[in-house]
Amino acid sequence: MVSYKMKVLVTGGTGLVGNAIRTIKPEWTYINSSHCDLSVYGSFDKFLKDLNIQFDAVIHLAANVGGLFKNMNHKVKMFEQNLLMNMNVVEACRRHNIPRMICCLSTCVFPDGLDSDNPMTESDLHKGEPHDSNFGYAYAKRILDVHCRLINESDPTKRYQSIIPCNIYGPHDNFQDPENAHVVPALITKCAALKELDCNTLNIKGSGNPMRQFIYSADLAHIIVDTVVNDLDFGPDARLICAPEPHVEYSIKHVAGLIAKQFDIDNVVPENNTESINDGQKSKTCSNARLHELFDITLTSLEDGIETTCNWYKVAYLYSKFQRS
Ligand code: NAP
Ligand code: GDP
Repeated sequence: MVSYKMKVLVTGGTGLVGNAIRTIKPEWTYINSSHCDLSVYGSFDKFLKDLNIQFDAVIHLAANVGGLFKNMNHKVKMFEQNLLMNMNVVEACRRHNIPRMICCLSTCVFPDGLDSDNPMTESDLHKGEPHDSNFGYAYAKRILDVHCRLINESDPTKRYQSIIPCNIYGPHDNFQDPENAHVVPALITKCAALKELDCNTLNIKGSGNPMRQFIYSADLAHIIVDTVVNDLDFGPDARLICAPEPHVEYSIKHVAGLIAKQFDIDNVVPENNTESINDGQKSKTCSNARLHELFDITLTSLEDGIETTCNWYKVAYLYSKFQRS
């Protein structure tokens, strides 16, 4: 018997998560902005027409992504570009009768403060406003959820679902633009620079007190691949939070300490003692109960994931620099 080879297209294929999926499924199709600028209306529709392949599924990862400071400083752009990209991709998938989509939201798009008593669940997504720091990005992502839900309701042949990851980190993260990057890649590049200057103190933004859940990119990639290959159903709301247990969250200062240790840096000093605008959300704690209902998975510990990521960075960036000099 000849086994059927699924045809799957991944947008955002050159990013952090795209690279992790490619490691597991190199035979799938991976695109980035050099193949098609997804923020230009109609571009993805034309791209699919020209390619003339009937895909079984599209994994839509492409986005204008960044850490707290990018989201705070470019709210309009984060809203417009992500809204355009998402609308363009989902509409084209619907028109081309692609039966399955996995889209990507983020736990930072949940209502701010809703986690004060209990971890948030998939059903909480629209129960209040997101944190002001990422108002634009969050609403663009929430509309993606609405778009998928409307399509699912109107067409029973389609299942367009969304994963909702907490902070992701790993190899191939954004190490090129630390000012706009998430906290892990920003601090890894900072530590590498400090080490070259023989400095033993890492200064971090904010108070270091905000709490975050983190997922290693390879773990998330396995969840996405299993969902597509086994055609898993997240349920009527079509959402799946991808995060460790709610109590497995760490202060930014603790995470900074783990990274500093990988570069033999002993001191971590936050810029403020108390809460400031540079802290962003205090927390965005989410439940992973549904993830455990669907998957028998043990997630990589933050200690192991940070060590592997720092080692990857040292080889990819520091060693190649050494080779050039
Ligand atoms: P990433 O590393 O920043 O990669 C973004 C990808 O999107 C790149 O391949 C990029 O291609 C592509 N892209 C950006 N603008 C495009 C455009 N106009 N047209 C076509 N492609 C474009 O992103 P990531 O961290 O892997 O994130 C993947 C998904 O997870 C995103 O939807 C993000 O919102 C979500 N997410 C991320 C985090 C996190 O901590 N990183 C947390 C929660 C959710 P080019 O290289 O050509 O620009
Ligand atoms: P968030 O989880 O969506 O808020 O995004 P980030 O991954 O950017 O994490 C932001 C948190 O890390 C905030 O509490 C920041 O104060 C803290 N942080 C400390 N130093 C840095 C840094 O150099 N870059 C970033 N992005 N965040 C930092």
